[in-house]
Amino acid sequence: MGTLGVLGLELVQMDTPPTTAYLQIYTDKRCRANCLFCAQASGSSAGLTHIARGMYIPADLDAVVSRLKVAYERGYLGRACIQTALYDAWWDDTVYLIERIREVSGIPLSLSVFPLGDERYRELSKSGVNELVIPLDACTQELFDKIKGKSAGGPYSWEGHLDGIKRGARIFRNAGTHLIIGLGETDEDAVKIIDELHGYKVNTALFAYTYIPGAQLEPENNKDSIRHYRTVQLARYLIEEGVASYLDMQFLDGTLCDFGISRDAILRIIEEGRAFQTSGCHGCNRPMANETFSKIYNFPRKPNDEEIASIKRDLGLD
Ligand code: SF4
Repeated sequence: MGTLGVLGLELVQMDTPPTTAYLQIYTDKRCRANCLFCAQASGSSAGLTHIARGMYIPADLDAVVSRLKVAYERGYLGRACIQTALYDAWWDDTVYLIERIREVSGIPLSLSVFPLGDERYRELSKSGVNELVIPLDACTQELFDKIKGKSAGGPYSWEGHLDGIKRGARIFRNAGTHLIIGLGETDEDAVKIIDELHGYKVNTALFAYTYIPGAQLEPENNKDSIRHYRTVQLARYLIEEGVASYLDMQFLDGTLCDFGISRDAILRIIEEGRAFQTSGCHGCNRPMANETFSKIYNFPRKPNDEEIASIKRDLGLD
């Protein structure tokens, strides 16, 4: 909906507009996979126009492509992100959309997709995809299996996803993954996989689990969730900036108790704010993708003083 606002195709009031165009390929068929958190999943009864809190309203392709060109030229958008589901015509539709955009614009393009063969990765890279993202979503093999693998009735496996991510990182200069925090993982589970992926030069974007009515995974009612999210955000930032690694950090029963740097350094990083802004591809701010106005997990811009104070409280550092 925010993308349609930036493109001038809907009247949307926004205090922070998206800086990336989020383009979900619309199909009225449900995805063949069955990720339990997803509104599009084969076993979900949630509406097809939602992904997390984001509303994806079908729009005219010609209008989207021509306005994307103008929005990029005028500096409103710095990237377009294509996301697809697993359905019969997904490959042809995805390639068609990439080609249509590339005919008119050089806007940086991300594609978020399940693992593919090297041949298809090369084809995508040649057709103009700059960043490949394969969402791992879960932080451990066990959670992956339960939430999007065999136990969930889905076609995916942890090994297959990790292999697809590693191969993708060899073919694309920029490769990434998404992790959903709040699926039952510990701080340590999340930090360990972020560190491992960083070792393969894969950047990790964090999402907070957002329940959509009709989705198959009930919301967690966990009072610790905001501390957990902030901890993983800060640890991810330290790892990706090369300030500290998983091995520098300490955990007690899975809960992080030492970031491996001094308290003063932590406070400086919190006050600087970048660690808590939306993570992922360059130029992606995903405003209100998993947020409500009273609960912001990923700040789509630099957090203000009040927000920095609340981050310190979330981390028990006030
Ligand atoms: S990080 Fe942002 S731009 Fe990149 S794939 Fe994810 S949603 Fe798209």
